[in-house]
Formats: sequence, C-alpha cells, structure tokens
Amino acid sequence: MPGFEVFGEEEKQQVNEVLDSGVLFRYEFKDQRKGVYKVKEFENKFASYANSTHGQAVTSGSAALKVALMGLGVGPGDEVITQGFTFVATWEAILEIGATPVFTEVDETMNMDPADLKKKITAKTKCIIPVHMLGAPARIEEIVAIAKAKNIFVLEDSAQAPGARINGKHVGSFGDCGTFSFDSVKTITTGEGGMIITDNADLWRTMSEYHDHGHDHLDNPGGRGGDKRRFIGSNYRMMEIQGAIGLAQLGKLDYIVSQHQKHKAILKEAASAIPGVSFRHIMDEKGDSASFFSFFLQDKEHSSRVNEVLRAEGCGAINFAENTWHFYPKWEHLLGAKTCTASGWPFVGGENRKRFVYDPAALPQSADLIGRCLVYPIAVKTDEAKLAQMCTALKKAAQV
Ligand SMILES: *Cc1c(COP(=O)(O)O)cnc(C)c1O
Repeated sequence: MPGFEVFGEEEKQQVNEVLDSGVLFRYEFKDQRKGVYKVKEFENKFASYANSTHGQAVTSGSAALKVALMGLGVGPGDEVITQGFTFVATWEAILEIGATPVFTEVDETMNMDPADLKKKITAKTKCIIPVHMLGAPARIEEIVAIAKAKNIFVLEDSAQAPGARINGKHVGSFGDCGTFSFDSVKTITTGEGGMIITDNADLWRTMSEYHDHGHDHLDNPGGRGGDKRRFIGSNYRMMEIQGAIGLAQLGKLDYIVSQHQKHKAILKEAASAIPGVSFRHIMDEKGDSASFFSFFLQDKEHSSRVNEVLRAEGCGAINFAENTWHFYPKWEHLLGAKTCTASGWPFVGGENRKRFVYDPAALPQSADLIGRCLVYPIAVKTDEAKLAQMCTALKKAAQV
C-alpha cells in the first residue's frame, strides 16, 4: 500500500541531485540550480502519466483540495457535494473555504451513489467532489455527466487512488480537476505533498498563482520581487526535495499497482470461500490500483463474527463503521459543530446563525454497506508467509 515500502537508490539519487545543487526552492536561483527543477518535472510527468496536460504540486492532499476549490471560484454561499465515506480532509477543505458540505450515500462501489447525488443537487451546488476511496474509481463518468448537465464543477479527490483507471483513463482526469495526496501512508509518498491535475490552462494558472501568494511566475524585470499579481493567495509550495522523491516514486507506481493486484487476487480467492460473501463493485478490474481489498458480508453481525475469527488468527480486517476518521456518523466534531474559533465559524455564520445541521442517521444505505464491509490494506511487499496466514484466516472465517 504505501510507497515507503519501496524507497531505494532511486529516491536517494534524486534527493542528492537537489542537495548537490543547494537549491530547495522550486522557483528562482536560476544560475545556481543548473537546470534542476524537480517540482516542475514532477508536475509535468505526473500530469502526463495521469492523462492530463497540467499539474500543480502543493504541500499536501488537503492543500490540493483547498487550492482546487479556490481555483474553481467556490466559496461562501456555495454548496459542495461529497460522499459520507471519505477522509475528513475532503470536507475540512470545503468548510475552510467557507462553503457548505453536503453528503451523499455510497453504493457498492464504496464511492458516491449517483442516484443519491441527483437528489442532493440544489440551485446552490457549485461543485461535486466524488472520492475514489480505497484505491478504486467511483462511477465517475456517470457523475461527470450529471454535473455537466447542470453546469456544476467536478473535482475528483483521488488522494487514495493514484494509478487507478477506467478503460485506461486515470482517475483525476475525468472531471474539471483531480487532487492527489503523497502523505506518508499513500500509494506514492513524498512524506508530505499533493498534486492537482487539470486540462484547463486557465484553472491551472489560477491555482499556480494562488498557491504562491499570487505571483504571476512570468519573466519579470527584478525577478520574483518584480512579479505582478491578480489576487491574494497563500503559500502551499512544494519543496524540491519532495519533488525529487515524487519523481522516483512515480517511476515505481505501475510496479506498485501490479504487486497490489497480484496480492489482492490471492486474498479474493481465499475470501470467496465465505458463504454469502460478495465483493466491492470495481468499475474496471484491470484499472483497480488494488491498494485495498474490500468485501461484504451478509450483515453487520456476520461481518463482526468473521472479523473475530480473522483477529484471532492475527489478521483482523478494518471495519470503517468502527473507525472514527472516515465515516459520517463517527464525525462527532462535524456533527457537534466543534471548532477553535470564538465565533463558532464555520458552523456559525453572521448574526450568530447556525449555517447547517447534520443528522447522524442521514445515510442509512452507507451505514448498511459500511457496517458489513471488511477491508484489508494491500502491501507492495507482502511476504509469502503473511499472505498464506491471511488466506488460512479467511478460510477459517468461512466456517462461522
Ligand atoms: C489522505 C487524504 C486526503 C488528504 O491528504 P493529506 O496529504 O494527508 O493532506 C484527502 N482526501 C482523502 C480521501 C485522503 O485519503
């Protein structure tokens, strides 16, 4: 699953090139850096790998979401629809830019349910953020079609799915833009880091300027100090060392995915012995990045029984209904409107009005699916003994 499993000579070589140049900053230092622009190179190579024309590197997957939403012009008064099964970062970004998060159900893809999406669209919906959770694509073509018909932007949160495709087309390249995370536990990692990809040159330019205090990045007299600006921004710049590691990791992504697929197939075969088991709907098996293996049991009670056996065998699976970071009813800080600000923002707006209220029981279809879904993270370098132990555990679980 995480790219740190395959750190090696390539990463060291890349980082050393940066240290040898002495330039950690992605801009400026033209004479000193001798043509080494690791972040720029990473942006170009990543975008082209993922079927897009432009890449914008940033400091994290969370920053990528925020910069993308700003680039799309989303803000206060707008509703942004995402799914109730995602990492908290998705809706934190929506709240941070002052918009209102609206949550849909997931379906057997474990991603956004297009039927529920249609019900949640209002005149205020400005953007839809489907999330390609657990390594596999959402019903992205259907979602983009729904959005296009209503002139709504689609931002694909692809943080968990670099390398995932549908008929060869990479996630992140279907909507207006797609965001990725390279944090420490993601499929490829730069320690911290993120990327936004898009085919829209204007959107890219806006994001590029916003992520760097508005700098226009043109060849101005006086260099960086002479840059002009169109609007205010902030600092979400990626460092050259991160870009360097990213280049080495990107070179290993296809290998990582092929290893995942091999290991996932072995586990799926073993899990097939469990009576009543069914599998997560994968849009295109060949395009599954397979960083996770997800299977459904008959009901919540069955999934608990199965997981008890797996745990006893030293191979417990994740049940996201128990985890507090990824599923809506467990987001007590969102449901309870907990924030650092004295005013209560972003939950409380002008004149002390509550901006929105969430009901923990609002997503029953997701609760059913997530309650009976067990998930294994898939390692790149799983050893044979560990894999055999997991298979034995799954076969034992078939007896209960
Ligand atoms: C990890 C993750 C993020 C945030 O990425 P960071 O780099 O950790 O900020 C956003 N969305 C999803 C779905 C994630 O899994």
